[in-house]
Amino acid sequence: MDMIDPFGRSISYLRVSVTDRCDFRCTYCMAEDMAFLPKKDLLSLEEIDRLCTVFIEKGVKKLRLTGGEPLVRKNIMYLVRQLSRHLDSGALEELTLTTNGSQLSRFARELADCGVKRINVSLDTLDADKFHAITRWGNLAKVMEGIDAAQAAGLHIKLNAVALKGFNDLEIPEMLRWANGRGMDLTVIETMPMGEIDGDRTDQYLPLSLLRANLERQFTLTDIPFKTGGPARYVQVAETGGRLGFITPMTHNFCESCNRVRLTCTGTLYMCLGQNDDADLRAPLRASEGNELLSDAIDEAIGRKPKGHDFVIDRRTNRPSVSRHMSVTGG
Ligand code: SAM
Ligand code: SF4
Repeated sequence: MDMIDPFGRSISYLRVSVTDRCDFRCTYCMAEDMAFLPKKDLLSLEEIDRLCTVFIEKGVKKLRLTGGEPLVRKNIMYLVRQLSRHLDSGALEELTLTTNGSQLSRFARELADCGVKRINVSLDTLDADKFHAITRWGNLAKVMEGIDAAQAAGLHIKLNAVALKGFNDLEIPEMLRWANGRGMDLTVIETMPMGEIDGDRTDQYLPLSLLRANLERQFTLTDIPFKTGGPARYVQVAETGGRLGFITPMTHNFCESCNRVRLTCTGTLYMCLGQNDDADLRAPLRASEGNELLSDAIDEAIGRKPKGHDFVIDRRTNRPSVSRHMSVTGG
């Protein structure tokens, strides 16, 4: 019983933000002084497991935990272990997460043990001072330790870097060589106008078409059909033997192949990252012990999945297109 939206897209990918909290304050993602949700509004890990299980029964094959920082949610490995039963049964094809890497040295082995095979680690620079500047609170050495531990545990890592004009654009070649040299793909992402931040986004926005043109002065990039189920378009890099991905929500609209929905830690379902329409799943979840109400609410929500987003970085108003922060839906 697959979930098919009004535009014929099959919804097989659920991203779950397990917390809106984080141990970093990346400048493009959060304001320094963030107000987080009161703990009482959060779904319990048991409730998240129940929700995910219903989605899996309804055809979700790939599940990604994100946040905020998923690995700072208390007892998170309980949820990972619970969800791993769906890998064992074959109902779920992939269980994965997106992390800032700060806690990976603690959890890498257990994640691998639960059947997690690949993870995304967000890393915007290899320079310790710049890392501290962009994350406000982060420590690069700790993240490097986490990456080492994850690779030692056999996890495949994809690095995600947000491309920021004047910050890391000149460093991307070095990051590419470093990542590919360690057997990791690198994906660069355009900044999206989500949530109030302290700075000006128009100053940071770097169209990836420009970045690609610059990279092509030193690298031979060949478009390849490689897909990981996400919106990245990949190129093979002749010089490194590795892959580079581009996620271009601003310059290229990839909505036509969108297969995903996003669940927040309070049980709100967002059918599109770039739109405000949502559905409350917490009320039907808590209204009865059976899953019928929940299943109906999910069907109703999927029936409202919009055709696409309309992000704009508007120089005149400098207001975010979507007021919620990325840490609410996890990207
Ligand atoms: N804390 C984890 C991490 O950083 O990987 C998971 C959540 S974080 C919100 C997920 C991804 O969204 C990260 O790769 C981050 O760089 C990216 N991100 C955050 N705010 C963004 C924005 N405004 N535009 C584009 N990407 C953003
Ligand atoms: Fe935290 Fe990730 Fe947002 Fe950085 S991008 S503040 S690590 S949630």
